[in-house]
Amino acid sequence: MLRTSGIAARAVLFVALAAALAGAACRQRPAAPPPPRRVVLLSIDTLVPAHLGCYGYDRATSPRLDAVARTGVVFERATSPAPWTLPAHASMLTGLYPSSHGLRDHDVTLAANVATLADVLAAHGFATAAVVNSHNLSPLFGLQRGFQQYEYVKEEVGRREPTRAITDRAVEWLGQHRDDRFFLFVHTYDVHSDYRSLPEYERRFVRPYAGPADGTTAQLLRARTGKLTLDAADIEHVQDLYDAGIRQYDDELGRLLDALGDDPGTMLIITSDHGEEFGEHGGFLHGRTQFEEVVRIPLIVRGGGAPAGLRVATTASLIDVMPTILAAVGVPAPGALDGVDLAPLWRGDADAIGERTLFHEADHNNAAPDVTRAVRHDREKLHVDRLTGSAMLFDLAADPGERRDVAAAEPARVGTLRAALEAFAKTHTATGGGPVTLTPEQLERLKSLGYVR
Ligand SMILES: [Zn+2]
Repeated sequence: MLRTSGIAARAVLFVALAAALAGAACRQRPAAPPPPRRVVLLSIDTLVPAHLGCYGYDRATSPRLDAVARTGVVFERATSPAPWTLPAHASMLTGLYPSSHGLRDHDVTLAANVATLADVLAAHGFATAAVVNSHNLSPLFGLQRGFQQYEYVKEEVGRREPTRAITDRAVEWLGQHRDDRFFLFVHTYDVHSDYRSLPEYERRFVRPYAGPADGTTAQLLRARTGKLTLDAADIEHVQDLYDAGIRQYDDELGRLLDALGDDPGTMLIITSDHGEEFGEHGGFLHGRTQFEEVVRIPLIVRGGGAPAGLRVATTASLIDVMPTILAAVGVPAPGALDGVDLAPLWRGDADAIGERTLFHEADHNNAAPDVTRAVRHDREKLHVDRLTGSAMLFDLAADPGERRDVAAAEPARVGTLRAALEAFAKTHTATGGGPVTLTPEQLERLKSLGYVR
């Protein structure tokens, strides 16, 4: 007769109990999905979130982007630490503030001791590639480090067609690496000024207008420096042209999304490096101020554990992109980063991060002392004029357009935030690597794109 001993019976009971408990745990919390094997980071240069459907815009500029947003997490209050292309992308790709990675102007390269996202992922066996579309990201400055393939497709001022070569190269590379673990970085300049697109897009977005505004960088530079005045009708026309360009790019984005498919093993992050001014505070283009129209960026994460349809109101920053990706794929960060992994915000553990104090800087290595700096904490934001030392304080919850300066009424808050900004400046002092000397042609290109005065 087969008998079970007392010990065996207890063991069977224990196993059954453990299985039951495990089953209950499974019902409460589904097993975590495996880490993504593929990561695609897309930077759509100069993309203002307020002009996208998924951020509340009432024009149909972004149907494909909106569809991605519905299947992922939308960070509603994401910002850039810098108002222009080079330092902002360096922050996106290093997890550091500009004053930590040192790439604050065109005169230096990225220091050898600063690890990039591509460096780290390549060292952990990921195939890495980038296709970029701005001189700011050309191999001159060091952001190509860690990418096994890095292609700079020259941006063309005045172009109307989408830059199809960017998508073509990305789609081709995806086809060659479908079975690999990989990191692909795609950057496009199509939305950046000049605001021009094909007639079929302009017909849909540009309302009747007979004034002088043409949406070119050259004209907007004149408006920014006070040599030309644009009235409300002119500015509306400029924004119509900008919107047409977004829609044109959105169709191009569709080609990339179709090639990616909806493989759950792919983490897709879509963002921008900075926004754009349309006269809200008298300025145009970007790069000089830290107002919300310039520092707010879209940030959408699909896959990598990010649940569909969630919107996160906690403040986030471009410096968080690298730590978020590394945590999702299970690769340790290279030393201390300024940014944090954002996943706790979509796992319902906002307290793990909370509202941080975030900084906006990158002022051309002192070459442009009129560029403001800013610091924000939750609903408060302080701008400091570096030339005069004067400050403006805004309550972003009550006054999201930064119209009512409350610095005079809140001297204690001004003092606290100013002290935070000064402490930040003292503790973040990286100066970059070796010098970069631009050729006259390269300088001319930067001027035509609005980067050099
Ligand atoms: Zn840019």
